[in-house]
Amino acid sequence: MEKLQNFINGVYQDPVNGAYMDNYEPATGEVYAQIPNSDEDDVKLAVQAAEKAFPIWSAMSNNERSEIMLKIASGIEARLDEFAQAESRDNGKPLKLAMNVDIPRAVSNFHFFATAIEHFASESHQMVGVGINYTLRKPIGIVGCISPWNLPLYLFSWKIAPALAAGNCVVAKPSEVTPYTAYLLGQIVKDAGMPDGVLNIIHGEGGTAGDAIVKHPRIKAISFTGGTNTGEYIARTAAPMFKKLSLELGGKNPNIIFADCDFDEMLSTTMRSSFANQGQICLCGSRIFVERSIYEKFKKAFVEKVDATIVSYPNDPKAKLGAVVSKPHMDKVLSYIELAKDEGGTILSGGEAVQLEAPYNNGYYLRPTVIEGLSYDCRTNQEEIFGPVVTITPFDNEEEVLMMANSTKYGLSATLWTSDLKRAHRMADKLHAGIVWINAWLVRDLRTPFGGAKASGVGREGGWEALRFFTEPKNVFVKY
Ligand code: NAD
Repeated sequence: MEKLQNFINGVYQDPVNGAYMDNYEPATGEVYAQIPNSDEDDVKLAVQAAEKAFPIWSAMSNNERSEIMLKIASGIEARLDEFAQAESRDNGKPLKLAMNVDIPRAVSNFHFFATAIEHFASESHQMVGVGINYTLRKPIGIVGCISPWNLPLYLFSWKIAPALAAGNCVVAKPSEVTPYTAYLLGQIVKDAGMPDGVLNIIHGEGGTAGDAIVKHPRIKAISFTGGTNTGEYIARTAAPMFKKLSLELGGKNPNIIFADCDFDEMLSTTMRSSFANQGQICLCGSRIFVERSIYEKFKKAFVEKVDATIVSYPNDPKAKLGAVVSKPHMDKVLSYIELAKDEGGTILSGGEAVQLEAPYNNGYYLRPTVIEGLSYDCRTNQEEIFGPVVTITPFDNEEEVLMMANSTKYGLSATLWTSDLKRAHRMADKLHAGIVWINAWLVRDLRTPFGGAKASGVGREGGWEALRFFTEPKNVFVKY
């Protein structure tokens, strides 16, 4: 069976403790690879390598770093098929999705930040007759990047690309549930001519390998995407060490549908915003609020489409949904469906696991699920489920839907469907969310601030925000 390795100091290597853990294929439920169960000893080696590399990498011109990163982007692009197959096998997502979204976006992340750094500038502030301030933006040094399993290479590269572009050296850990494409990246980085030790990739569990990254005193900043509870733990651990922190956490996003929307466009986008990637996107709109006058029409049309949705193995070109990521995650989602029933909800579609034919009979498949009849403040409507499960709830006016939409502890994104321009702006202004889409969902411009309010996180990624996060400003004053 294939054994993955850590990538430290430009060399693939076994974990110091020699310990490995199983890597499952969600489509079949079978173990198909072993991954390093690394600990603080591997993180120490990675930090030593990064410290050696930092004077070289940070002294390069922006253009030199940019050239290497562009080679990484084209290196991934040249192996699109292989990366997409690996991502789909590791995560359970339909191959089509990995081919069209995940891997192309990883390419774009490297491309975007490789070019952005060439345009990154710092500020100056003149004091007339007194002098001038100018602000230097220096790389921080060694930074830690920790990412989740839902969009594995997409989110891994979203962090490491700006960190590297800004001149930092990186110790990165992909999710232990989906390590494979991050493992493949090591070779691409090597082939692109990145100096050894600039990017180090450690595999292993959050509580050991991840924790060792967060606690290492010479890692000066942590960029983390994952669950809110993990984010809280990381903040508690890293804050007393005065580390810079960027936390992209969970969501429970509202999808608000007014009667005056373009119904057909709303319906097809709502199918995606509900169930894309098996509902395992932090931006999915899992709470659907529908204006009462079109509630029955929406319910009928939506449930018809959901009933007709094909759940199948990831390589099936007909699959709209593939497998969810793991057995524990499938059990968690199913337990929320039971909770919804206990809370008085009615299952309108789905609500159960799907049994495929061999060799997929032990895979983790769930029917997309629609639930109605729940109060806005019950647990099903307040807690993140992170699976193919949505609730639908009618509303009568703007005030009421705003109150329900804003009632959770989260504040990541919101989607709004209306053709009333004034209402759209009014609502966008009042929604508790870091990102609001009007008559759209998941349209991404990599220059815009990305992140959430309240328990959905601290700080923003994307564009200049990311380059500012990964640099330390130093103001210099010169007297006239
Ligand atoms: P998770 O918090 O369990 O794990 C995320 C990463 O953190 C993994 O690499 C894991 O190994 C590591 N980790 C776990 N415990 C750690 C610890 N104590 N110290 C250091 N690292 C640790 O999250 P997950 O289950 O992989 O991902 C799903 C969650 O991610 C959902 O809540 C989802 O909303 C969130 N998410 C948020 C965004 C966003 O941009 N806001 C994007 C994608 C996913």
